[in-house]
Amino acid sequence: MVDFIRRPNEEERRNFKNIMDTTDDETVKFKKVVEAEEKKHHKNKKPFCARCAKFDHRDLIKKQISEMERTNGYADWNQIKTENVNLQEYSGSERFEQLPDSDAMEPTGLSGRGGLERKTKIGIHRNYKCKKRGCGISIFHTNEELEKEKKK
Ligand SMILES: [Zn+2]
Repeated sequence: MVDFIRRPNEEERRNFKNIMDTTDDETVKFKKVVEAEEKKHHKNKKPFCARCAKFDHRDLIKKQISEMERTNGYADWNQIKTENVNLQEYSGSERFEQLPDSDAMEPTGLSGRGGLERKTKIGIHRNYKCKKRGCGISIFHTNEELEKEKKK
C-alpha cells in the first residue's frame, strides 16, 4: 500500500500537538474564560456547567484536528477555530434539575476532653444536576444569604 499522506515539514511539525494535550494555548485560554464565567454565575447563585463547556470545546478542537489530519495528514493548531462556543448554553434553568439542598457544616472545635467534634451549620449547598451529562453542581449559600433571599 502506498502512503499518500505527506509527512509534515519542520514548520508544520512545530504547530502539531498531541490531541490529548490539554496544555495548549487554546485550551488554557478557554479554561480561564469558562472558570471566570462559572465564578460569575455562582456568585449570582445561578448554576453554570463548566464541565460541559470544557468537554464541548475539547470536542470542537478534536473534530477540527481529525478533519485536518484527514485532509493534510497533519494538524495545524494555528488554524483551530473555537470562537463559536456559546457560553450562554451552559447556564439557564432549563439545563439543570434541582436536587435537594444539603447542609454546609463547619467544625467549631472539640467539646470536652477528647470529645466529639462540634459542627455548626454555616449555610447550605444548593445542588443541581446538569441534564446534558449529569454533572453535579453545588452552590454555597451562607445563612445570611438565605435570610436575605427569604425577605425578597
Ligand atoms: Zn454538564
